[in-house]
Parts: sequence; structure tokens; C-alpha cells
Amino acid sequence: MNRPYNFSAGPAAMPEEVLAEAAAEMLDWHGSGMGVMEMSHRGKEFGQIAGEAEADLRELLAVPQNFKLLFMQGGGLAENAIVPLNLSRGGTVDFVVTGSWSQKSAQEAARYCTTHEAANTQARGFTTLANPASWQLSEHPAYVHICSNETINGVEYQTLPDLKALGCDAPLVIDFSSHVASRPVDWRRVGLAFGGAQKNLGPAGLTLVVVRDDLLDRALPICPSAFSYKTVADNDSMYNTPPTYSIYIAGLVFKWLKRQGGMAVMEARNIAKAELLYGAIDSSSLYVNRVEKHCRSRMNVPFYLRDEALNDAFLVGAKERGLLQLKGHKSVGGMRASIYNALPLEGVQALVAYLRDFEAQHA
Ligand SMILES: *Cc1c(COP(=O)(O)O)cnc(C)c1O
Repeated sequence: MNRPYNFSAGPAAMPEEVLAEAAAEMLDWHGSGMGVMEMSHRGKEFGQIAGEAEADLRELLAVPQNFKLLFMQGGGLAENAIVPLNLSRGGTVDFVVTGSWSQKSAQEAARYCTTHEAANTQARGFTTLANPASWQLSEHPAYVHICSNETINGVEYQTLPDLKALGCDAPLVIDFSSHVASRPVDWRRVGLAFGGAQKNLGPAGLTLVVVRDDLLDRALPICPSAFSYKTVADNDSMYNTPPTYSIYIAGLVFKWLKRQGGMAVMEARNIAKAELLYGAIDSSSLYVNRVEKHCRSRMNVPFYLRDEALNDAFLVGAKERGLLQLKGHKSVGGMRASIYNALPLEGVQALVAYLRDFEAQHA
């Protein structure tokens, strides 16, 4: 089957091999006589699936032993509440606002704690990152929150900030929903990372939290038990029924990532894909990406047609060529190509060929 290339920002394209494996195992997982979504989460079959998923992810992302991996529900937006409920201790939390997602995180946290904006790049159209040396951190923040890849604005930290070097010993919290598993993570700089699965790990419904163990036991008394990191960790992510099928599919994705060669190989591929696409945009006179080069996202590439009257024709033509879901987020308009792990180089090559043909036709 020749499937189109899917540039959706999320839920997003999955590796075809994984979909085929899941289809083959749908009625009977490994001779158990059950499909995975029919299994008890406490049975030995699902125990094996969840255990391998966790071990594979820990290996892939090189997560140190003093961090817990939690499989939760609620998505990135729920974590915007769950993180302050667990970590704010009634104190002040610092936010670095660099786009729609970090802005949303700060707004939600304000319901549970005092928030402080250490930096905000909105006046520059969310097209850049503030240098950490310029951040106005508060005296003793409970933690500092960043969105390490802004999915809508297309802005990505190429290195994580080093809070210690800034004289701040608070933990760094990163929302890495849309670039998790696209590159290695420097865990020395991170206290907690969270992400919804539906961008780069698997199906919606699963939320990954990676949290340093000294941060587990700080929840406010009003924190729901099912969202207390300590409770979830003490119960190996099975305090409540976890999203079993999503964990299973994500587990197949982790095995696929290992077969590809792990994070070093994926990062190299993602760099090659991003360079090809940004190069095509920059060298054209029809398309434009407004993000500063040093912080352009490798995963989410927003771009505009200089003649916006051509937007509909562009999308119709793209679909005819098997290039799906290129419409930009409604809040910013234009186009967006999300080029996560599962989108191969050939997909970017096909998009670049279309960009050139469309431009030639409309010159
Ligand atoms: C998609 C996304 C979210 C929201 O995820 P939901 O699962 O819809 O709650 C949060 N943060 C970032 C960076 C995202 O890309």
C-alpha cells in the first residue's frame, strides 16, 4: 500500500511498521487468545508489555536511575495543572513564555500557585528564544517551566538552559510533548519532563512524565490521588487503570526506534529533514518562515505563502500529491509541516518538490 505523507502536528503519523504489527496482533497477542485492549492491566501479559515499554524508553532516552518514568493520562494540558499541584509547594513558579504552549502552561498554573514570568517573547511574535542570561528569575522559585519545543510557533531550544549556571538551584520543568524522542535529553539539567504521546510516541491518551525522585513527594493536599506523582510511582503507573492500548502501541514505537538505531540516528535524520525543508523555504520567494535560525524547530515547521490568496490552492494541490494536513494552526494561520520521527526523508523530499512546482506554477 502506498500511503500519503502525513504532516499532522498531532495526533500525528505513526511508523507504518508499527501499525502493521498492531494490526497483525489485534485479535490475538502472542498466542494469549486476547487482544491487548482486552487484557487486565494487572495480568502477566500486560505486565510484560508495560515493563518492556518502560525499559525500552529508559534505554532510548538514557534516563538515569534516579528518575522515575510514569505513564499517566490527561495529556500535556492536564500536566499544566498536575505539575504545579505536585511541585509548587504553595510558592512561586517561574515561566519562560516563548509561544502558545508555555503561555497556556503559565495561565493554568496561576490557578494553583503564584506565577512569575521570567521572560516573554510575545512582543517579538514568538519567533525567537530569550537568552537564559537575560531571564529575570524570582528569588526562590519552586521550579522553572519552559516549553522545549513550541509546536505552534516552531521554536525549539537546541540546548536546555543550565539553571545552576544562572545561580538558580530550582528544578527545571520541560514540556517536551512535541520533540520527545527526536533527540537526546541532557537529564543533568532537568528535574521533570512531561509530554503527551500523540506527537512523537504513539496514540493520544498516554502522557509521559519523567521525574527526578527527590521531587516525587511534594504534592499539595488538594492534588488528586490519581495525579500525585508519588502515588503513581509507588504503584508502577497502575494506581488507576492506565491507557493500556496506548502504552502497548507506544511500546511498539520504542522497539521501532531501537531498530532504527536509537536517538543518535533519529537526531541525525531529523536534522537532515529539517535542513532540507528550511533550505527550500529560505531559497524561495513565495514561502517564508519567520523564526530565527538558531531556534528553529526540527519537528514543527510553520511557514507562510507571501500571497495568502494562494493558501487554499496550495492545500488542495498538496492533497492531490498525497501530502496531508499541512494547514497551519488556526491561531497563527499559514501552513505547518510537522516532521516527526515517523515522517521519513522521502516525505520531506516530496514536500520540497511540491513547494518548488507550486511556486513555479504561480510565479
Ligand atoms: C500538543 C501539546 C500539548 C497539549 O497536549 P494535549 O494532549 O492536547 O493536552 C501541550 N504542550 C505541547 C508542547 C504540545 O505540543
